[in-house]
Amino acid sequence: MIICLDAGHDASTRGKRSFDQTFLEYQFNWQIAQLVEAYLSQWGITCFNNRCSVEEVISLKERVKRAEAGKADIFVSIHANAFGEEWNEVTGWEIYCAANESSLRLARCIHQSSLPYLGLKDRGIKQADWMVLRQNIPAVLIEHGFYTNKIEKDRLLCHDFQIKCAWADAKGILKYFFD
Ligand SMILES: [Zn+2]
Repeated sequence: MIICLDAGHDASTRGKRSFDQTFLEYQFNWQIAQLVEAYLSQWGITCFNNRCSVEEVISLKERVKRAEAGKADIFVSIHANAFGEEWNEVTGWEIYCAANESSLRLARCIHQSSLPYLGLKDRGIKQADWMVLRQNIPAVLIEHGFYTNKIEKDRLLCHDFQIKCAWADAKGILKYFFD
């Protein structure tokens, strides 16, 4: 099995940051993807990041193309969430998947390994028809919490919490293949 990890956004989306400028989403996504890759590789699972570096700018179409070229069996897109124009109370973890049974099962596995383990509010499993989810392989997009909430942003910045996020994602992926 081959896992394609898709670290959301890139250096062209520096605007996706916290109001105090301390959190840049594309850097967080990249960091989590690196940690997930490390766990999966350690467990003998082949995976690859569909971008070559944290700064590399590629289109959504290219992300999907690279997953296909790499003969990926599943596609896992890694993100953090945002809401509103100023600090607010919206918080929580959620996962999006394509409207098919295998994507939904993958989403369920990652959901189960992430909550309540991460201690975030459960916003559940949702279906979406986004380009990165519209694929011939199971595809999900994980939103690891809101950087537009001050407390959650601080948690997302914490290295120990990043390790927990990556562990939960990797465990969920493992569960999908072996349970
Ligand atoms: Zn994002």
